[in-house]
Amino acid sequence: MAARQNADLLVENAGRLYTMSGGTGPLRGAALREVQIVENGALAAANGEIVLVGTSDWVRERIRLVPGCEVVDAEGAAVIPGFVDPHTHAVFAQPRAFEFGRRLCGESYVSIAQSGGGIRASVRDFRTMDEAELVRRTRQRLTSALRYGTTTIEIKSGYGLSLADELKALRVVRQMAQESDMPRCVATCLAAHEIPDEARNDRQAYLRAVCDEILPAVAREGLAERVDVFCEPHVFSVDESRSVLQRGRELGLRGCVHADELEPSGGAELAAQLGADSADHLGRISPAGIAALAASDTVAVLLPGTIFSLGLDSFAPARTMIEAGVAVALATDFNPGSCHCESMPLILAIACTRMRLHPHEALAMATRNAACALGRPRLGRLESGAAADFVLLRSSSIDELCQHLGLDEIDAVYKGGRRLFRRRGTH
Ligand SMILES: [Zn+2]
Repeated sequence: MAARQNADLLVENAGRLYTMSGGTGPLRGAALREVQIVENGALAAANGEIVLVGTSDWVRERIRLVPGCEVVDAEGAAVIPGFVDPHTHAVFAQPRAFEFGRRLCGESYVSIAQSGGGIRASVRDFRTMDEAELVRRTRQRLTSALRYGTTTIEIKSGYGLSLADELKALRVVRQMAQESDMPRCVATCLAAHEIPDEARNDRQAYLRAVCDEILPAVAREGLAERVDVFCEPHVFSVDESRSVLQRGRELGLRGCVHADELEPSGGAELAAQLGADSADHLGRISPAGIAALAASDTVAVLLPGTIFSLGLDSFAPARTMIEAGVAVALATDFNPGSCHCESMPLILAIACTRMRLHPHEALAMATRNAACALGRPRLGRLESGAAADFVLLRSSSIDELCQHLGLDEIDAVYKGGRRLFRRRGTH
């Protein structure tokens, strides 16, 4: 028999261990529902990386626990990969709770935006807040996301909309990325989120500033690895979005697109054509957009929490996309206005009930596929060689997490083999 492998962490007796393993790339079509599950499973890790996954007896026989190791008896609870949240706007000054009631009493998101609310209100707040306070608030939010099981989070700038303020936002993300108690962070520059008030009369001047000043400075300082653009008829056109994404690509930044949220405008097709990481939102994606994504490696990141929070019914056609073979993922869209929610479990529950997903599909979309949407194919799965980022649930299956509405089903959260959160008195 081969020599035993050293392990400094062992989690055993998991009722179900959802590995999300097998093959490469995102899961598509029927494979989304047929995820890999090990019953009475165990996971062994060393130096932050998984070394073995299998049944508890099988893993025990093949490892040598080093002195000082941590052994966790899951007592039948489920173990899942840590959630990967591939679309957030987590660096902001304060939530726009005052708009919530207005919206629900009939005012549209667009009309609130046109009267100076929405993103532009968040921009005014953001510009006046200093970096240290933004760091403090973002840290609190990321700590909260982590307690709901998120071990990797994408964070966009986009409330600065000037060179100095976009760099300020991305420095906050870099600070978060350097703190070991935070989730892993992926930074995206969304300077093309909106036209700032001072450029209302000359949108071309702002677009030139994005392409000629902001993106080059971001790339030079290594503050983001991706560029995003809000491609909607009332924000940036397809042609304007293409120029921003192409400029990003010249500078070495991968692309992603806010696409077809309110109207089918060709954003999904643009994302596929340019080989972007993802096309996000897609509540109004066209049949041509679905076909374009299905034929590409671009992941469709669906944000059902936003539609839910806005009180709308225009959920992305997830089932149609899955049947067409599109690689689909889930994210919170965590932001100060349209979806003030950092909880991936709630997003899974909304996705299951409103987009008719099976809990296995929702889990795959929130872990392995979400990691693919961020260009991190080794995250979001539990197999040897992968990062030891995982979550112990309070219940024995993902079905219970998706069905138990509004309560916290997370028991413990590990990132890189280190426990960052544990509910008191358990495990
Ligand atoms: Zn967004």
